[in-house]
Amino acid sequence: MRFLILLLAASLTAATPGENDWREPMKPFHVVGNVYFVGTAGLGAYLITTPQGHIVLDGGTPDDAPLIEKSIAALGFKLSDVKYLLNSHAHFDHCGGLAALKKRSGARMVASRADAQILEAGHHGSYGAGWADDFPPVHVDRIVNDGDHVQLDGTTLIAVLTPGHTKGCTTWTMQTNEAGKTYNVVFYCSTSVPGYPLVNNREYPNIVSDYEHSFEKLKKLRCDVFLANHTGFFDMRQKLARVHPGAPNPFVDPTELQRFVTASEQNFESELTKQRKAS
Ligand SMILES: [Zn+2]
Repeated sequence: MRFLILLLAASLTAATPGENDWREPMKPFHVVGNVYFVGTAGLGAYLITTPQGHIVLDGGTPDDAPLIEKSIAALGFKLSDVKYLLNSHAHFDHCGGLAALKKRSGARMVASRADAQILEAGHHGSYGAGWADDFPPVHVDRIVNDGDHVQLDGTTLIAVLTPGHTKGCTTWTMQTNEAGKTYNVVFYCSTSVPGYPLVNNREYPNIVSDYEHSFEKLKKLRCDVFLANHTGFFDMRQKLARVHPGAPNPFVDPTELQRFVTASEQNFESELTKQRKAS
């Protein structure tokens, strides 16, 4: 529901950028190992660096590509060294900037089969919820299936398909090293229900079983660092305030994914119960 409100707020204020934190510039920062935050105050976008080139996950809204490029440069890296662009899911607030980032970098766009269709069309609907958005279409160079790897130098991103929020919703996982320790990083797609009909959904008949399977899959992931495409999902600001030299990295919390999935599943189940009663 919170997502729906944010989404509606963003649609309503589309003509007046800056009225919400989706388009508010954010100082980029190091998260853990070779993972950096390059998104806006409200929307997550990530730079994963290697000596052989870089990977960028998510492109924010169509207006955010220049902010992301600036953030990459501010960290001392080059957009032209980005080899792969990934997407969590094909909603305009996470894929809108990808076409511009691809054009500027020449990187290969990687996506799940279901979301690739949306990315290439430049338009997504809402499975009967009544909202839709357009964004600059982006050509997908490589389709990933569940468990597929995107590899660069010693870094491997694994695609974990977690459909429901979109049919091709992709949670990405990787391992990174810092100070002699290995951390499992999870970039959570989304499991919110932004107004979707869950009962008798003709556009997405297996929507409920998709969400349920995704919750089960997400609960089994090993996660030390929980990151997402909405900064509120992982309390970015609160954690940043706790970053101090010598102090433990506040982004490391092996309990956070489980807590988030449990809460999200409860929201889903109560929405499902409500809709079943109403039908
Ligand atoms: Zn979404």
